Amino acid sequence: MICYNIIKIRYHFKLRQVVKLTGKNVFKLRVAITVSIIITILAGATWLLAAPEGRPVLVTTIFPLAELARGVAGNRAEVRQVIPPATEIHNFQLTPSDLKLLNKADLVIAVGGGLEPWLVRLEKSLGQKDARTLRFIDFLRSISYPALRQDDPHVWLDFQADLLLVERLLEELSRLDPEGSGYYQERARALNLELSALDSSFRRELASCRQKEIIIAGHQAFAYLTARYGLVSVSLSGPHPEALPGARRLQEIIKLIKDKKIEAVFYESSEPPAYASTIARETGARLFSLSAGVNLTGVQLSSGKTFLELMADNLKILKSALGCE
Ligand SMILES: [Zn+2]
Repeated sequence: MICYNIIKIRYHFKLRQVVKLTGKNVFKLRVAITVSIIITILAGATWLLAAPEGRPVLVTTIFPLAELARGVAGNRAEVRQVIPPATEIHNFQLTPSDLKLLNKADLVIAVGGGLEPWLVRLEKSLGQKDARTLRFIDFLRSISYPALRQDDPHVWLDFQADLLLVERLLEELSRLDPEGSGYYQERARALNLELSALDSSFRRELASCRQKEIIIAGHQAFAYLTARYGLVSVSLSGPHPEALPGARRLQEIIKLIKDKKIEAVFYESSEPPAYASTIARETGARLFSLSAGVNLTGVQLSSGKTFLELMADNLKILKSALGCE
């Protein structure tokens, strides 16, 4: 009966939505249909939820979170990632198979801060808001993390924050699988040693650079990184790439580069370098690509590049581009 009522409610929702099928509404409709199907399946067959061999299932949204989760979970828990590592996260849209995956999760690990609006919508339609979701930004806010930036979701590029998330993941996994707590503890310790080492290399190797400004010819993805190592981040647009930069902002950046005789300009490796090329042409600055650790190229994916390796590559690029001793 409960199932029937849910379907009835969804059916009316669908009828209303059919009236105006704009792109957004088609998406909502798809989500509504899939959610109602899944709710029906779940009500009748909860055994489908069981993880293989009873391992906890962690579902993450983006590559860096999946990497940190895998780092702690090892082979005792299953870690899955919703947003494919070659996809632009800011424009991601959920598919029915993602919904199945999210429903299987013992814990969903997300960034928060507006980066995954589809997850908020899904939680609302399932009526389980925040019950099983660990949001990186909310977690940092709950411990009053001092370097948390207002309205900037790129927090995984702060290695100290990553280290704290690893500790939190250790707690969650030990709760889901108490027998494995010693195993998780060992792995979390090893991962945090690597994160600390990476953080120290960034601090040491970027301590005295000829150029302090990181000019990003794109959206502001690297402000956590620059703030942490005493560099200055200047970007064409804000932390959300939907807002395209205007011609005036482009001219401001070009003037800044000329005035300060800045030699290196950066762009996020997954963004089309059109603005970067214009800036380079106008100023003679050299272009360098940085990875935000999220949109991996085919080559990076097939070679099994890790998040920490991508960050180590960033350090090499920064060192040479900024003229650091
Ligand atoms: Zn971004």
